[in-house]
Amino acid sequence: MAINQNSRKFRPRYVIKGFLHTESPLFTGSGLVVPHPEIKRDDGPVEVMAFPRAGDTPYIPGSTIKGALRDWAHIHLQDRTILEKVFGKGSSEEQQGSGGRARFMDALLALKRIEPTPLPYWDSKRQTYVEAHVCIERVTGTAAEKMLYYQETVPAGVGFKVEIRGKADEGSLYQEVAFILSALKGFTHPQNPILLGADTQSAKGKMYWECENILFLDKDALMAWLKRPCPLQDAYRNAHLEELHHLENLSKSVETTLPDRPLTVSVTITFDSHFLVNDPPRPGELQEKERNPESDLPDMKPLLDEKGQPSLPGSAIKGALRSQAERILRTLFEEGDHNRAACHPGQEDACKPIQDISGYERLCLACRMFGGPGWKSPLHISRFKCIDPGRETTQEFLAIDRFTGGGAHGAKFNIRAFYRPKFQGTISLDIKRMKNAEKDPSWALGLLGLLLRDLKEGDIAFGLGSSKGYGTCTASIDCWDNANFQEEVRNGLESLRKEANKTRRP
Ligand SMILES: [Zn+2]
Repeated sequence: MAINQNSRKFRPRYVIKGFLHTESPLFTGSGLVVPHPEIKRDDGPVEVMAFPRAGDTPYIPGSTIKGALRDWAHIHLQDRTILEKVFGKGSSEEQQGSGGRARFMDALLALKRIEPTPLPYWDSKRQTYVEAHVCIERVTGTAAEKMLYYQETVPAGVGFKVEIRGKADEGSLYQEVAFILSALKGFTHPQNPILLGADTQSAKGKMYWECENILFLDKDALMAWLKRPCPLQDAYRNAHLEELHHLENLSKSVETTLPDRPLTVSVTITFDSHFLVNDPPRPGELQEKERNPESDLPDMKPLLDEKGQPSLPGSAIKGALRSQAERILRTLFEEGDHNRAACHPGQEDACKPIQDISGYERLCLACRMFGGPGWKSPLHISRFKCIDPGRETTQEFLAIDRFTGGGAHGAKFNIRAFYRPKFQGTISLDIKRMKNAEKDPSWALGLLGLLLRDLKEGDIAFGLGSSKGYGTCTASIDCWDNANFQEEVRNGLESLRKEANKTRRP
């Protein structure tokens, strides 16, 4: 019987094993919405967007990891031939599953968080908590009390086991593996790290990659296996130390390019009063309060991070910045032009969805900078870490005090909050992405400069109770006195004024 030589051509195989640890909260949708047994609203249980899981074990879909690695490698790594060999040709979602020789397994939860984990609706078994995404009150810039949607989220400090399997050309086994290792280093890239999942503009999905080991099934290992058959997975051998060194050197030599660095400023926010992002009471706590109205359970208490420190979510920062930006834009533009400056999302005059970049110019300036339907925001907020929690305090208010602007229940109510906490993080603007869509987006740098000035001088508040003096803060900005930064902002302001004068009647 004739044997087709081609079909017998042996391709060495490899397995890369390691861990991805969350450094900030991670949410990736499973497409499922499930009622939460504990969270209820007047009209019944609340539906929560579920994190993918197998049984009770959460996992990151392999396609999510592959897509993020491919997108990053496409921008940062030079070798297109190996990129397509390993990851396939398409980068669109439909094509991610096919093409390319590397197969990305679903990464199952492998390392649990240190307990206690004081997060809302913390589920120790699933290692998830529930994040309530609040609607930003556009007039006051504070979070309104009306909840919009809920996401089952994995906090920082959780590890997922990653496994990447593939077949390589015999002559380029090490090159292909080294290419994947280079792409994996994208997770810890200092300027442009890979971020996984959704809401990455508000600091979600920062991961730390740790390689555990690399296995090979080459000709020698295959011959050994033929002599002593066992399950094929046991025929793989660990990479030798010299091979690991070789791979390390090869992965270093994969040429990386850094796209134009987004303008990044480091910001320290210091509250000069009480600060509260509310973590609404659980049903059990509400029942307890009803049974014993004199109990000192607070009616409102701060949202905590996984370490029990106050949390200032990136989405809250972005929301407050956006409403301040809308105010600024509407003051700069003539009344008839307000909608070109800043639309009202969710209302009738909101920008219409755009299909591709050609529709970009139809978006208002606020949507161009903060994201609009069909356009992802070029403004990124890193995770703001609490560097000093300040003091935890409880204050008592009379019901008549309209703390949130809504009606209060009970005779008086307790508010637990942190007094003078401090947070640190970065805000960056990817002006290059905007340049692909409009000729001169430098107005955005002018607007960013105005926002940072307002933040610095205490004109932007975060969290609840601004009418009671809560949430006021000042900020220090690392590059504020830097001459280049000042010049960019000055030029940006000039463009912003030109933009505002475009349709001004003489
Ligand atoms: Zn808009």
